Amino acid sequence: METGPSKGLHDVSLMSHDRRLSGRPRLCSDCGLCDSFLRPRMAETCLFVHNRMAEQELRLHGRRRQDGDEMHFGIFREQAILRMKAPVAGAQWTGMVTTLAARLLERGEVEGVILTGTMPGTRFQPRPLLARTPAEVRACAGNKPSLSPLLGVLDEARAAGLRRLAVVGTGCQVQMLRQAESLGGGETPGPPLTSLLGLERLDLIGIPCSDNVTYPDQQFFLRTISRSPETVVHYEFMQDFSLWLHHEDGHRERVNYIDFPMDRLQGIFPSACLSCFDYPNALADITIGYLGAPLGWQWVLARTARGAELLDLLRPDLEARPPGAAGDRTRGMPRFIQMLARRPARPPKPVRALIAFLQRRRGPQGLEFARAIIEMKLLRNYRYVRDKFPALEARIVPYHVYEAIRPYAADYAAVFGEPLAAPRQEG
Ligand SMILES: Cc1cc2nc3c(=O)[nH]c(=O)nc-3n(C[C@H](O)[C@H](O)[C@H](O)COP(=O)(O)OP(=O)(O)OC[C@H]3O[C@@H](n4cnc5c(N)ncnc54)[C@H](O)[C@@H]3O)c2cc1C
Ligand code: SF4
Ligand code: SF4
Repeated sequence: METGPSKGLHDVSLMSHDRRLSGRPRLCSDCGLCDSFLRPRMAETCLFVHNRMAEQELRLHGRRRQDGDEMHFGIFREQAILRMKAPVAGAQWTGMVTTLAARLLERGEVEGVILTGTMPGTRFQPRPLLARTPAEVRACAGNKPSLSPLLGVLDEARAAGLRRLAVVGTGCQVQMLRQAESLGGGETPGPPLTSLLGLERLDLIGIPCSDNVTYPDQQFFLRTISRSPETVVHYEFMQDFSLWLHHEDGHRERVNYIDFPMDRLQGIFPSACLSCFDYPNALADITIGYLGAPLGWQWVLARTARGAELLDLLRPDLEARPPGAAGDRTRGMPRFIQMLARRPARPPKPVRALIAFLQRRRGPQGLEFARAIIEMKLLRNYRYVRDKFPALEARIVPYHVYEAIRPYAADYAAVFGEPLAAPRQEG
């Protein structure tokens, strides 16, 4: 049995010693594209070779992000706090994703949905698959919280001659698809292509994603965090600054974020996920998450015209409440930047309990919580790229990062002794 994460604590590497991944670039989130017929076009599509967020946003929306929430959340035409009136059994939250994907098949709007099921014999190992029926979609409800090489399934959709497809994916998977969608057919064999994907319709249902891990490291995480890792059936990182783990017998275990043993967990995150700047899945047609919502509700961003249509398909089943925000995230950010430079010693247990209490009582809530978490990840990942992959910064850090974290430029410069500014593009 392994005793530690598959990647060394400060290793700059791919994420695991999985043989299947040998030969990949060190920055690779195993999105699955390199398992598909698109492999020869990897250099043009992979966001870790060149991040094309700005040009894809221009293509989709005809504009760049505006100041304000779009810098953090991406471009959207509607932001809503919603939930299913009748939650779907086995869903991660209330099952909006499952219901939407199943409905697209029921109505014949798509011929297949690429999404992530569960590997037989496991609870949490992802199994990318092509669902052709609503029942197959429903069987995929719930998170399998580790990297899912989803895009490898494109070959199956192509072999089946599908022309109308939906994909449920994380930000990196959606970015790869947008990039592939915008390329010409080139040398890739196959039917005449209006794009590299050869599809009439591609509906992209995005889920927010951050700090993903490989399956072996997900198992390591559970063994490290839970008192009973074998009986965990569902878990989620909640907006109340704690992880909730649900067990087979129905009891709930709760671990405050401040109590995580970060010295042991630090090494589990792949270099790619630490170099990722798309937590809210900004290129999807619609993003369905929970980050900006109160407990029990879902946070939804309809981005494109098609995204608005997708949301309308779900509306009859939804109840809504107005978006809200409380607290002031900016107060804690200077301290967070100092902690990026030097992680302080773990405080004793009573002090940690007090911090957790104060986080819940006075910490940011609702949309302010989403802004806080996204800003922290942008700052951390920006620092990571500058530290570990400085030569790649101009290619892989998108423009909105500098805009979103600009308010902290003085704090950043004081702590790190360098400006928080975009390097000059080569060529
Ligand atoms: C690794 C991971 C991290 C996430 N982090 C956040 C976060 O920080 N903030 C936030 O707001 N939301 C996050 N989400 C999304 C959130 O947990 C819910 O999946 C989302 O809100 C949809 O809830 P639902 O009840 O509508 O989904 P369901 O109806 O239960 O459907 C879940 C869908 O997720 C897909 N899925 C499951 N596992 C994976 C995977 N490993 N890769 C790709 N797709 C998968 C399945 O295809 C399924 O269709 C994360 C999801 C994953 C997989
Ligand atoms: S992230 Fe995807 S496209 Fe990039 S190298 Fe890995 S599998 Fe290929
Ligand atoms: S954190 Fe980013 S790179 Fe990693 S799986 Fe999620 S979207 Fe992909």
